[in-house]
Amino acid sequence: MLRITPILLAVLYAIVMYRISIWRTNRELDARSTELADPQLKRMTDRLAASLDLARIPVYIYEIDPVNGLAAPDGRIFITRGFYRKFKNGEVTAEEMASVIAHELGHVALGHARRRMIDFSGQNALRTALIILLSRFVPLIGVWIANGLTALLASRLSRADEYEADEYAAALLTKAGIGVGPQKSLFQKLEDLTQQRAGVTPAWLMSHPKTQERIQALEALERRWESTS
Ligand SMILES: [Zn+2]
Repeated sequence: MLRITPILLAVLYAIVMYRISIWRTNRELDARSTELADPQLKRMTDRLAASLDLARIPVYIYEIDPVNGLAAPDGRIFITRGFYRKFKNGEVTAEEMASVIAHELGHVALGHARRRMIDFSGQNALRTALIILLSRFVPLIGVWIANGLTALLASRLSRADEYEADEYAAALLTKAGIGVGPQKSLFQKLEDLTQQRAGVTPAWLMSHPKTQERIQALEALERRWESTS
């Protein structure tokens, strides 16, 4: 019992941190967001909702500047004020905004939003448990191995999540009659924005795999769908 106590403590710690981070995130989002009331975008989200047999898709504006989209574990989708401003300026089309919303919906539908919260707080607990375990067998370097494994697992998980969310969005956009085009053109626009601003990447791209690889993955998907239809 004594031997596994540290591991149990690490798991308990992760559960408590998970609860706290959900509570904190929700409080922050509630305080700084309002429901999106844009007729043009509403028409887009209604098309997505109809394809999913949903009455509506809950989209909110989150009052921060960085260009980003977020999905809360409870299913709400958040578009930042900065991103919405790009749409209002005419830099990003309604269809491209729909592609962001569809991508974030993918994170919700595939359970990523919930798991990410766990990632957030759970990585520490996993690392602690691994350090305790590995240090028994390989003293000293056990810590390094544990750190490396935890980081590797986290980055693998998030990359896989992004491709899955892109694929979900591509299928949903196709079903809604919007198509994959806006998804690809938005990636390209955000990438160009990075170039213009001397390498300052919009937040929404930063947390995602390389733009060209995402576009290629979408094109592979399109070819696959064309050959089966
Ligand atoms: Zn994503």
